[in-house]
Amino acid sequence: MTSSAESLPLDFLGYTLALSRPASAEDAHGRCGMGATWQWLDDGVLQFEPERVDAQTPSVLLSAGIHGDETAPIELLSQLVADIAVGRAMLACRLLVVLGNIGAMRAGRRYLDDDLNRLFGAARGSMTGSAEAPRAAALEVYAERFFSIASSEPHARWHFDMHTAIRASAFEQFALVPYTVAPPSRALFAWLADARIPCVLLHTERGVTYSSFTAGHCGATACTLELGKVEPFGHNDLARFANADAAVRRLVAGTAPDAQAPMPRVFTVIGQITKHSAAFEMHVAADVPNFTPFARGTLLANDGDYRYVVGHAEERIVFPNPDVKPGLRAGLLVVETSGATLASLA
Ligand SMILES: [Zn+2]
Repeated sequence: MTSSAESLPLDFLGYTLALSRPASAEDAHGRCGMGATWQWLDDGVLQFEPERVDAQTPSVLLSAGIHGDETAPIELLSQLVADIAVGRAMLACRLLVVLGNIGAMRAGRRYLDDDLNRLFGAARGSMTGSAEAPRAAALEVYAERFFSIASSEPHARWHFDMHTAIRASAFEQFALVPYTVAPPSRALFAWLADARIPCVLLHTERGVTYSSFTAGHCGATACTLELGKVEPFGHNDLARFANADAAVRRLVAGTAPDAQAPMPRVFTVIGQITKHSAAFEMHVAADVPNFTPFARGTLLANDGDYRYVVGHAEERIVFPNPDVKPGLRAGLLVVETSGATLASLA
């Protein structure tokens, strides 16, 4: 146990994949460079506190591996943890780092029984037998505890849940902003611009994702980030993620975003394709890229009497997946709303 304990926090990923645990309460916390401290809370859950915390100090939750095979952001977070530990990365916030679905990460799979990112909040109710359900419940508790003592100043609470997508996309990187009653946040868009994220998808209904939970229940300025393609551990070209990684590090270091960065284009959800039964048929290519546009009148799917026909002049499809279980979403449809959204940021 001693050797693996030594690898925390310098090899958070290796430590987590090996299911190592601190041998004693003494081994579960320690000091970093520049006076910060770390504490191991659970498998894949590590919290940092900066040397000084006051009423303005931001609290930042960074998560990856909610889908176990989305390795690049997991590697980036593990590297950030190591850099904070030795004082190579600045820490000016409270920071909770979470590697989500460890069983699936170890198996090189997206999930074991069910998609962890559809199990947050009330959605979990009927799925308590799922391998992923206890983890979703635990991650909610860690987020609630972390933010329960966070500053309530505007934009002092952040959550970025980092993913890579299964399929190609017309925009290689994009952000999914969960629905909350408040209008979209200018601070969030400034950060997304700083990270050179070219595209933002706005949800219009409450979701069942991790970032939807932290936005709705913890008051976090939160989004899901899709940062590129799925590759196995060790096969990622991390340079492709450099802009997002640099913006994450600026946020954690308390550095203001680049005010000159171009704002992303914005797309708002206007509908979804639902799979009702095994008779479901989708009329788009199985590997169609995310954000592919379709013209008014195009039949995208049918299932018995149910049909999805494009009703706007142009709609773009996101996350098409005919293989989901009946009752679940088989694709989202969005329309561009850049002008109106960027004019209404609060
Ligand atoms: Zn994902």
